Amino acid sequence: MGDTRHTKVLIIGSGPAGYTAGVYASRAMLAPILVQGIEPGGQLTTTTEVENWPGDAQVQGPDLMIRMQEHAKAMECEIIGDIITDLDLSKRPFTAKGDSGTTYTADAVILATGARAKWLGLPSEEKFKGFGVSACATCDGFFYRGQEIVVVGGGNTAVEEALFLTNFASKVTLIHRRDELRSEKILENRLMKNPKIEPLWFHQLEEVVGTESPLGVEGVRVKHVKTGKITEIPCKGVFIAIGHAPASELVKDTLETHMGGYVKVNPGSTETSVPGVFAAGDLTDHIYRQAVTSAGMGCMAALDAERFLAEQGDT
Ligand code: FAD
Ligand code: NAP
Repeated sequence: MGDTRHTKVLIIGSGPAGYTAGVYASRAMLAPILVQGIEPGGQLTTTTEVENWPGDAQVQGPDLMIRMQEHAKAMECEIIGDIITDLDLSKRPFTAKGDSGTTYTADAVILATGARAKWLGLPSEEKFKGFGVSACATCDGFFYRGQEIVVVGGGNTAVEEALFLTNFASKVTLIHRRDELRSEKILENRLMKNPKIEPLWFHQLEEVVGTESPLGVEGVRVKHVKTGKITEIPCKGVFIAIGHAPASELVKDTLETHMGGYVKVNPGSTETSVPGVFAAGDLTDHIYRQAVTSAGMGCMAALDAERFLAEQGDT
């Protein structure tokens, strides 16, 4: 049997929202516990240059997240490497079960579980996941030195991944279902100027094809969305970059959600449908989904939690 830890504020998640909540809740003398989850540092640990974090014209995503972690730690936020597998929000104190066997009880909870990569849902994508199909160029790009690669998607992530992969690949084909990108203009300009990248407009991935033994990718079959014409593109790596979905599994049956699983908060605050439970960052934001907005919401959540606890006489 694991031990039980009680805290005034339990922060679930270690992205910009979680660590910022950790800094603010610590400085409010709430002695928070922050549980990091499976991806310490969150989504920014899967990227390279970040150019829109105020104060840093350029910073590596993983470095920025280590700095945030150190900042929270310096304020005496207790940071624990665990994953919350179950969360009971039916009564206070709230109860969270950790994968480690530890049970956490908390007077207030800040949810900052962020978002996860979306997949296309093709059987062949599933089959070759980890064997040529990936959703993280930073993690897996190195394996494709001198090889041809395809990237699927048309947002910031897809364009950044395509650009990053040109460091390794001989050619990168960007497959997008429209002929217009939704990425920032500065990224689009870099993409269009890069001689190693060839955009393939109006196409969708139909199937990943490859060898059985050893399991490995040899190419993709893509379909023109207007004519239906199928084309085969040889490649060794397939990077799916079609966006992210909120990581709301823990609370999908207990908190109000909307827009496909984003936790609903009261306008202008981080209050969820359960008093004492606050949500911040990509978990609750289907519009902006940026590091700086997530950090801002982490700050709001800590301040909202502090006010809630004071009203309950719990501080
Ligand atoms: P996340 O960063 O998603 O972190 C979620 C955290 O929750 C993780 O630590 C995870 O381990 C934890 N967690 C999840 N489930 C559990 C659980 N059950 N128990 C415990 N912990 C859990 N934004 C920018 O502003 N600039 C950029 O340049 C930029 N580049 C990006 C590049 C890529 C490739 C991607 C994918 C995103 C990028 N973004 C960028 C978006 C930015 O990363 C996100 O907006 C931001 O990370 C969201 O922060 P968050 O704290 O809400 O959640
Ligand atoms: P996104 O902006 O939601 O873009 C997803 C892309 O994938 C879109 O182009 C979409 O096509 C395409 N797509 C979605 N589902 C598809 C499907 N089933 N088949 C084929 N294509 C599909 O996601 P994102 O690029 O991951 O960005 C997420 C958030 O993080 C955004 O807010 C973004 O600004 C932020 N971010 C910021 C930076 C940065 O600031 N440098 C970097 C990365 C991410 P359509 O265009 O046709 O819809």
